[in-house]
Amino acid sequence: MIEFSEINLEAKAPDVTDGGRWKSIPLVQRIDPLTQKTCRILTGVKLQPENPPDLAEITNANGFCPFCDEVFERVTFEFEREIVPSGRIRRNKAAIVPNIMAYSGYSSVGIYDTSRHFIKLSEFTADLLVDAFWVMVDHAKAVRRARPELTWSSISANYLPSSGSSVVHPHLQSSHDFQPMLGQKELVGAAKRYFLETSRSYFDDLVAQEKNSSRYIGRTGSVTWLTPFAPRGFQEIWGVVGTAGDLVELGEEHLEDLADGLVRVFRYYDAHNFSAFNYSMAGGGPDSSSIGFRLVFRILVRSNPDRYYRSDVTYFERLLDEPLLDISPEQVASDAREFFS
Ligand SMILES: [Zn+2]
Repeated sequence: MIEFSEINLEAKAPDVTDGGRWKSIPLVQRIDPLTQKTCRILTGVKLQPENPPDLAEITNANGFCPFCDEVFERVTFEFEREIVPSGRIRRNKAAIVPNIMAYSGYSSVGIYDTSRHFIKLSEFTADLLVDAFWVMVDHAKAVRRARPELTWSSISANYLPSSGSSVVHPHLQSSHDFQPMLGQKELVGAAKRYFLETSRSYFDDLVAQEKNSSRYIGRTGSVTWLTPFAPRGFQEIWGVVGTAGDLVELGEEHLEDLADGLVRVFRYYDAHNFSAFNYSMAGGGPDSSSIGFRLVFRILVRSNPDRYYRSDVTYFERLLDEPLLDISPEQVASDAREFFS
């Protein structure tokens, strides 16, 4: 059994609705059963957006955009022919090109649709996402064939500037390195320890155990969607890919299952006035299959790009590594579930 533990932090504060009388306020610290990372879940605080943001100004296609069709093929570069013989990888309206910002051994940027400068959350379709994931995975396979030592891969995305994105045109990114990123190393290391102790896949156990819990959301084929017990950010949702531990193992069906679920997550976010998000799906490295590692598509929302927005990342997250959450994962799962039915 995976153990979910939380600690009552015994918070006390004056109650404004009762003349400032000091009261006990429910506040828990939750511990992630795999990584031991902690978060705090507040009560009665409202940090979620009440209204949808006005994205018109920020998403206007005025000025130069390297990902729009008019200039795309002219201003982006081809891959090295040793890795991608045709130079370019496209499928329908999706494309992947080398990222000119080298943040990894091989850094690439995928565009869901080069014919549309902006795609609202409600406008994403499963087909569009399958195409975008496909070009990323096709490139990942090409890199792995040419440079098998680059075993640490991931696909991630920022969407809108308040999530850290520098280009508004919706895109996703990939990394291929001989060294893991810290979060990837911690996750895989912890999954490996779990496997060595139990001879079982942590993620298979998690899915089996959470299937009947209040954090279960739904299933799209090979992907099980749930909220993590101790989230790292707002509205965090996980899609656990049951039969793949590395990006290069992803086949067409996995991509369809992921896309089907992600469209539902986007609809849920949109219905609750969220717009910006980050997601990441990190491969399990060279030992992924021998330790029962499973890809986990992790997505969370970020502050809306309002003119004077409050960042959701405070000293708690940046310096103390302990996210503050005002909505429990059980509530998120309950709200998201209807989009999976
Ligand atoms: Zn554009």
